[in-house]
Amino acid sequence: MNARAFITLVQELTVIKVKFKQTIKNNRANITILIILIFLIVAFFLARNFFWSDTPDTVVIQHNDSIKEYPLSEDNDIAIMDILNNYHNLVIIKDGKVWMEKADCPDKLCMKQGKISKEGQSIVCLPHKIIVSLRKKGHSPEMDAVAK
Ligand SMILES: [Zn+2]
Repeated sequence: MNARAFITLVQELTVIKVKFKQTIKNNRANITILIILIFLIVAFFLARNFFWSDTPDTVVIQHNDSIKEYPLSEDNDIAIMDILNNYHNLVIIKDGKVWMEKADCPDKLCMKQGKISKEGQSIVCLPHKIIVSLRKKGHSPEMDAVAK
């Protein structure tokens, strides 16, 4: 870049800067509206996260190809059997928390995952192909995948 091109560039930038300042001056009302709008959008997402993410009402238990739903508000003991009716896992729902009480899988990782109580949390028992997850009713994992 030679000196003349540089000077031209600086002049152009100065013009752009002045125009930008004038634009801001002329659009002060619009910018105020824009800031309020951004604030509202942020507030909406915060509120949504607050009310959606932390208050699931449904326990979804996926076992092989079957999916069953249970209300989180009702205490429940759910025994999970395989096709041959062999007993494998026991899921407990109590006081808005869910955990794997018993499991005869070799690694027992599902039991070690502890208690879950928040939207999106899950317990997985890989050897038995069981996924226990918490959802807001009508808010399926598939919908989540689409949203992301
Ligand atoms: Zn397990």
